[in-house]
Parts: sequence; C-alpha cells; structure tokens
Amino acid sequence: PNAFTNHWNSIDEIATIIRSCTSCILHAERKHAVPGKGSANARILIIGEGPGSNENQQGLPFVGSSGKLLDELFAQIPLAREDVFITNVVKCRPPANRDPLPDEVKACHPYLAIKDPTVVVTLDRNSFARFYPEGKNSKDHGKILQWQGRVIYPLYHPAAGLRNPALIKRSLREHVLRPREFL
Ligand code: SF4
Repeated sequence: PNAFTNHWNSIDEIATIIRSCTSCILHAERKHAVPGKGSANARILIIGEGPGSNENQQGLPFVGSSGKLLDELFAQIPLAREDVFITNVVKCRPPANRDPLPDEVKACHPYLAIKDPTVVVTLDRNSFARFYPEGKNSKDHGKILQWQGRVIYPLYHPAAGLRNPALIKRSLREHVLRPREFL
C-alpha cells in the first residue's frame, strides 16, 4: 500500500486530531503531542522514531541540541522550509525514551500529513523500519535506496552526532547533501 495515501485536508486538521488522540498508550504520559512541522506538499520527509523530552515539552519536532545540529546540516543544502516536512513515527513521547512498540507505531500510521515526498530521510532504525522493514540501519545508513517509486535514505540520528561527534557528524555531513540530487 502507498504509505502516503491519506484523507487529511490540511496540516492543521491532522495536528488537531493528533493532539487529542488516545489510540495508543503513549497518550497517557505526553505533555504535548508532536504532529510535525513543515508543508504537506514538501518534497523531503525527515522522520525520527519519536519525540524526546524537549519535543514533548514544546510540542515541536527536533528542538534542543539535536534540532540545532539538524538545522545546521540542512542549512548547508540549502533547503527552503517548504521543501521539508519533519516529524516522527510516533507523535507522543515513549516513556524514558524507550523504543516505540509495534502496536504504537501501527496506531500512529495514519498520521502522516505529507502527501507525496520524493525523498524520505529516516533518522534511526525504527523510522527506517517503518518504511523499509527489510533494511538494516547499521548496514544501509547513507545508502540511496529505491522504494515505492521514491528514494529512501537512512541516516544516523543527529543526537548520535552529539554523543559521538567525530564519527557521526562526519557521516552526516558527508551524506546530508545528497537528497538535493533527487529534487
Ligand atoms: Fe495517537 Fe500516535 Fe499519540 Fe499514539 S503516539 S496516542 S497513535 S498520536
């Protein structure tokens, strides 16, 4: 099935529904759901596995130091804001940053506001598996893969770049410019 078939009329509509969603247990401890940021017509989807502590506090994706690193990296491409939609596989924070469970990922499947991206950039193994279950992030990261007529491009999460700057930041810097080849 096409992962981007949806019936949403607008980003605001989907965000309103997400903020009151109780379809999985993750709603119980959220402070703010994090629907995502950007344009529904964006050509690049950037997706991580779930909101962290800062995102949960603010209701926005990729804030704090990993968001800053991501902004720096994508400023190099450069991309206009309307070229990118940024979100997570699950829209509410898993407690203690645990991995989202399969039933939580499934419950959150319908909530992708972006309509027809050309490139899907995943930022960890759970977001990669959401679209490309046959892949392995450790083996495939930085590879350009074809998927459902689009490009899927698994990268390391920017938070890993903060923990291991030398290796991961270099890898991100080398790889992060590539999506523009496909636009
Ligand atoms: Fe609903 Fe997704 Fe939040 Fe679960 S994680 S409560 S499915 S919005």
